[in-house]
Amino acid sequence: SLPDAEAEAAVRADDRAHVFHSWSAQALIDPIPVAAGQGSTFWDYQGNEFLDFSSQLVYLNLGHQHPDLVKAIQTQAGRLATIQPSMASDVRGELARRIAEVAPGDLDKVFFTNGGADANENAIRMARAFTGKRKVLAAYRSYHGNTTTAITATGDPRRWTNEPGDGSVQHFFGPYAYRSPFHSSSPVEEAQRALEHLEQTIVLEGASTIAAIILETVVGTNGVLVPPPGYLQGVRDLCDKYGILYIADEVMVGFGRIGEWFAVNRFGVTPDLITFAKGVNSGYVPLGGVVISQKIAAHFDTVAFQGGLTYSGHPLACAAGVATFEVFERDGILERVRDLGERVVAPRMKELADKHPSVGDVRGVGLFWAIELVRNRETKEQLVPFNASGAAAAPMNAVIAECKSRGVYPFTHFNRLQFAPPLIVTEEELHRGLDAYDRALDVADTYVH
Ligand code: PLP
Repeated sequence: SLPDAEAEAAVRADDRAHVFHSWSAQALIDPIPVAAGQGSTFWDYQGNEFLDFSSQLVYLNLGHQHPDLVKAIQTQAGRLATIQPSMASDVRGELARRIAEVAPGDLDKVFFTNGGADANENAIRMARAFTGKRKVLAAYRSYHGNTTTAITATGDPRRWTNEPGDGSVQHFFGPYAYRSPFHSSSPVEEAQRALEHLEQTIVLEGASTIAAIILETVVGTNGVLVPPPGYLQGVRDLCDKYGILYIADEVMVGFGRIGEWFAVNRFGVTPDLITFAKGVNSGYVPLGGVVISQKIAAHFDTVAFQGGLTYSGHPLACAAGVATFEVFERDGILERVRDLGERVVAPRMKELADKHPSVGDVRGVGLFWAIELVRNRETKEQLVPFNASGAAAAPMNAVIAECKSRGVYPFTHFNRLQFAPPLIVTEEELHRGLDAYDRALDVADTYVH
């Protein structure tokens, strides 16, 4: 029945008049009215089709309208639509057990939250209660969410306007081989120098004051920064040496994005706490949580945990989470992500890098990649400056517009064209979307000097 100009006008009118949007100057945005979604695709009311290489906000891991997830929610709604958190519920318990089964080491209890920010907020709260210390170390180039401590832990400009926030957070540099803050020339050296810097930060901030280090296992929005060999193990070792807890933020990379239940599994490290959200149920009903080690959980056997949320472990959200486990196992989603990542995406990313002078660096793993755009490969001058907006951001806006005009909705941040399709994306869709990225990079190339 598309196009439907009347329906589009009505959606737009209500939205513009009454919906207050995130992170935006309200008069400067024009949200796409979305009519429908299926699998990796959504449609506007004009009948334009968008292949979603952003998985919405990198959460739609099983795509739109997955029949198993829809059915699980419908069935649960018919049985028992809600139950408060201090009671025991079958789906909540089953989901917690299944998460514990795939979590590394002795992490085997789950505190459920409504999303990622409150997962990080509560993980930090647990770390503070457990250690009796207050300070938190977090990396520059990170995002941890929009609540007070999570936004203060965030290492990107979204923190700036919310400062001072939580005064007990300090930032350090994580590894970033392409623009190394440590002037290193190899990944191993990058990891070593980043660890030396972190250790100095710990010593100078005072280990006796630091409750936790929070780190995205693979940095997501801020650049798909895959940690170099040995880095995460080094962080684990420093935490052990100095009596600090290690919180892995896996809100974006957990549940399959890099072909693992938890991304730390790929790097063979066991944090003390892991936070998750997004992919746990593809965001069909809001859900996040903290996976807790036995050591920390045991502390709260006799000391009350001072935190809670009315909708913690909501049955509709948990039912979609249990269905997610069933689909992942039945359809081999993790294996699929690893296979597509290595066999299809990695070679095409390399091709794009070889072909386009605007590509300074490509990096990624599984179905999670970043293409870093520059005006000059020698100087690495960025296609647009850090945190550019308005006219300064025009070259990136041209790249984005080219993707959209070719039917692909990209994931972009600053000077990067990123890539995070649903994990059920087909090979044909991958090629079609990467063909559009190829054309969009022609646009980026026009700015090269
Ligand atoms: N942590 C990471 C790594 C994220 O990518 C995000 C959201 O993008 C969050 C935390 C915050 O999650 P939420 O928006 O569900 O609060």
